[in-house]
Amino acid sequence: MTAYKKLTPELARELEAIVGPGRFQFGEKVKDEYGHDEMPIYGRHLPEAVVLAETTEEVSEVMRLCWANDVPVTVRGAGTGLVGGCVPICGGVVLSTARMNKILRYDMKNLVVHTQPGVLLCDLAADALAHGLMYPPDPGEKTATVGGNVSTNAGGMRAVKYGVTRDYVLAMTVVLPDGRVMKLGKTVCKTSSGYSLLHLMIGSEGTLGIITELTLKLIPKPLRDVSLILPFANIAEAIASVPAIKLANLDPQSIEFMERDIVDSSAAFTGSPVFPTVVNGREAGAYILVTLVGGSEEELTLKMDRLGEVAEAAGAFDTLVVWTDNLKKDVWAARSAFLTVIEAETRLLDEMDVVVPVDRIAEFLVYTHDEAVKQGVYVRSFGHAGDGNLHIYCCSNDLEEDEFKRRVKKLMDACYHKCTEFEGQVSGEHSIGHAKKDYLRESVGETAYELMGAIKQVFDPKGILNPGKVCHDPERGCPTC
Ligand SMILES: Cc1cc2nc3c(=O)[nH]c(=O)nc-3n(C[C@H](O)[C@H](O)[C@H](O)COP(=O)(O)OP(=O)(O)OC[C@H]3O[C@@H](n4cnc5c(N)ncnc54)[C@H](O)[C@@H]3O)c2cc1C
Repeated sequence: MTAYKKLTPELARELEAIVGPGRFQFGEKVKDEYGHDEMPIYGRHLPEAVVLAETTEEVSEVMRLCWANDVPVTVRGAGTGLVGGCVPICGGVVLSTARMNKILRYDMKNLVVHTQPGVLLCDLAADALAHGLMYPPDPGEKTATVGGNVSTNAGGMRAVKYGVTRDYVLAMTVVLPDGRVMKLGKTVCKTSSGYSLLHLMIGSEGTLGIITELTLKLIPKPLRDVSLILPFANIAEAIASVPAIKLANLDPQSIEFMERDIVDSSAAFTGSPVFPTVVNGREAGAYILVTLVGGSEEELTLKMDRLGEVAEAAGAFDTLVVWTDNLKKDVWAARSAFLTVIEAETRLLDEMDVVVPVDRIAEFLVYTHDEAVKQGVYVRSFGHAGDGNLHIYCCSNDLEEDEFKRRVKKLMDACYHKCTEFEGQVSGEHSIGHAKKDYLRESVGETAYELMGAIKQVFDPKGILNPGKVCHDPERGCPTC
C-alpha cells in the first residue's frame, strides 16, 4: 500500500519545469473547474496542481515524477463526465489533455484518423464530415474530448446502428502510471492476437493509463437520412413500439425516447417547440424519435412507409417526418439539450444511466417512477430506447442537500437492485467513476470485482492513477477517503 504524498513546492517546481509556467497551476492558482465534473453532487475536490500537457513526452515525464514521489494523478479531458471520474478525490495532480487537441492526419485509404485525445467530439465530427466521412459515435455532449469518450466508452444516439466508441478505436498510445509509453493496436480491421489490452484500456476511466494518441475508424458518410417523430399517449406505449420497429428490418440509426415534460422544458429553454404536443386531436404524453438512413430517396421512402405502418399499429398517433434540414437540426439540438435543460431547472441533481434489455425498459421506468414517488423525489427520464439505455435524473429544488442524498440513495439502491434482477448493467455509457462503485460491485459480483481490482494492481501497483475510481479503494494517506 502506498501512502500518497503531498505535492511539495520543490516537486511543484519540477512539474512546472516540464510544461512551462503558462501550463501549470499550483496551490491557490488552481482553478475551481478542476475540482468537479458535470455532476457536482458527488463532491468537489480541488487538486494541489494542474498540468496542461501537450505531448506524450510531457505526460510521460509528469508520470515518472509523480510515480517516483507517490503523488496521485487524475486525468481530465473536458470534465463533462457524470460520475466524478475526472475529479481528484485523493488530491495530487490533475493532468489535463485539453491542450492535446490536434487532429493529426487522415488515412483515406484505410478510413482512419489519427488524433490527439483532447480533440473535441464536435470538432472531429465536423472535420470528418468535411472529408466526406463520418465518425459514428454521437454522445449528447459534443464538447467532450475523444480521449474522454474512449476512456468512458461513450455511447450516444447512433449506437443502435453503429455501436459505441469502443467499436471505432483501432489503436492508441498510452502512458502507463510509471511513465512508460506503450502502443496498443494497429490500423487493421481484425485481430486475434493475445489479450486485448486495447479493449481493456477503452472504458477504463483513466485508471490504467493515460491515452495520448488515438487511431479511430471512420465510415463513408451516409448518403441520405431522415428523422421522424412518433407521438404516443404515454411512455409505456412508446417504449412498447421499439421491438416492432427493430424487427421491421429498417436498420434505424437512432431510436430515442423522451417523456412529455422534458420536451416541454426543452421547448421553453430553447424557445423552439419542435415536438408537436397535440397530434390528430390527441395530447402526446411521450415520443419516439427515429432516424433512418439510406442510399436513395426511394429506399428512404420505402423505409418511412414501413415505419409508419409499424408505429401506427403500435399506437403512435402519427408518423411526423422532419422534412427540412433546419428543422432536423432543431429537433436534434432539442434532444441533445435535455440534460442541459434539466441542469438549468434543477438545484439538486443525481442520475442513473442503467441499461436493461429492451423489453424491460417500460417496466423499469414504471418501477423507478413508483419508487421515486415513495421517496418524494422528482424523476425525469429520456434515453436510447433502441439499446435499452435509460437516463434517469433525480431532481429536487426544495429539499436540503443531505436529505436529498439520503432519499436518492434509497431510490437508487432499489433501482440498481431491480436493474440487476432484470439482467441489466449499472451504466450503459456514463461509466462508474467513484459515484457508482458500490453498485458495480453488487452488479458484477465479488469474483469479477476482485479480478478488476487485480488488473488495476498489475497496471498501477502503487494506485496513483485516478485513485478511488471504478474498482479501486484509495490507499492510506488519502485525506478524503
Ligand atoms: C449534457 C451532457 C450530455 C451527455 N450525453 C452523453 C451521451 O449521450 N453519452 C455518453 O456516453 N455520455 C454522455 N455524457 C457524459 C460525458 O460527456 C462523457 O462521459 C464523455 O465521454 C466525457 O468526456 P470528457 O472529455 O468530458 O472526459 P472527463 O469528464 O474529463 O473524464 C471522464 C473520464 O475519462 C478519463 N479520461 C479523460 N481523458 C483521458 C485520457 N486521455 N486518458 C485516460 N483517461 C482519460 C478521466 O480520468 C475520467 O475518468 C453527457 C454529459 C453531459 C454533460
